[in-house]
Amino acid sequence: MKLSLVVPCFNEEDVVYNFYKEVTKVFEGKIDDYEFVFVNDGSRDDTLNVLRAIHKVADNVKVVSFSRNFGKESAMYAGLKNASGDFTCVIDADLQQRPEVVLEMLDILDNEPDTDCVAAYQAERKESKALVFFKDTFYSLINKISEVEFYPGASDFRLMRRPMVDAVINMCEYHRFSKGLFSFVGFNTKFIPYDVQERAGGESKWSFVKLFKYAVEGIVGYTTTPLRFATFAGAASMIIAVLYLIIALIVGGITHSITSAIAIITLILFVGGLNFLFIGIAGEYLARTYMQGKNRPIYIVKELLTYEDNEE
Ligand code: UDP
Ligand code: MG
Repeated sequence: MKLSLVVPCFNEEDVVYNFYKEVTKVFEGKIDDYEFVFVNDGSRDDTLNVLRAIHKVADNVKVVSFSRNFGKESAMYAGLKNASGDFTCVIDADLQQRPEVVLEMLDILDNEPDTDCVAAYQAERKESKALVFFKDTFYSLINKISEVEFYPGASDFRLMRRPMVDAVINMCEYHRFSKGLFSFVGFNTKFIPYDVQERAGGESKWSFVKLFKYAVEGIVGYTTTPLRFATFAGAASMIIAVLYLIIALIVGGITHSITSAIAIITLILFVGGLNFLFIGIAGEYLARTYMQGKNRPIYIVKELLTYEDNEE
């Protein structure tokens, strides 16, 4: 098998068939040795039935269907595990990422033996200003404090050679943040711009809250620097407190006045707030250690359709 397309699908009944048709059309005459690995991530609409129907008529379609919604990260992981291509591409089901770009990526890997991965980033961001600001801040923050590098605007849309896919599969951590995983495993990655399209149908599954959680996942998953903030902030607030005490004693001694209650309340609130903040940060890390300790599966398969099923 030359190429596997890993396609995570969550409530994509409106677009998934178009996606399949469109890829087939674009690949026609250019590449014939490829497969689709659709992952139905616990869709609550008719996605699974559409996938079953596609699987029935096609001889290059695998469907991995989860027992519930595990999230795109888990869906990508399951897709990569079930892909058998020498090259594997992760691509969304909504046609925002054009199949032509996959051929472009394949061309690069065919011609550049030293490149292991071609990742696409959005040439022009078609998102709201607030979202662009939030994402830019996230990238500059995480790149400052994390050991691995995050390429701004890079999506999960990428084509990888087999050794890199195997390396990503071997990272079997429960809290997955693929942008970090792809960067952590190393290999030579080439970034190419692509034009992100409008969704062919349905709607985006990302809310601001989901994105915020995702950003926290990225930071907590790839750096322990926030834990160190606690030490610095604790030390700094102690020094400030001691200085304040000295000044208060001197000023109080000179003017024979009692230090104002407001100042004390402010200090208590400040130090108290600081305490809670850092207990919270420590908690984020502890929670992840706890979840990983449970060794829960990243996903659970309810139904698996392979193309061997069709041949029987
Ligand atoms: N997706 C998924 N599980 C989820 C959310 C999304 O498998 O819990 C899939 C979705 O079906 C799509 C891809 O991930 O193929 C990207 O999602 P979406 O288009 O909503 O994200 P956006 O393009 O808006 O960033
Ligand atoms: Mg999309």
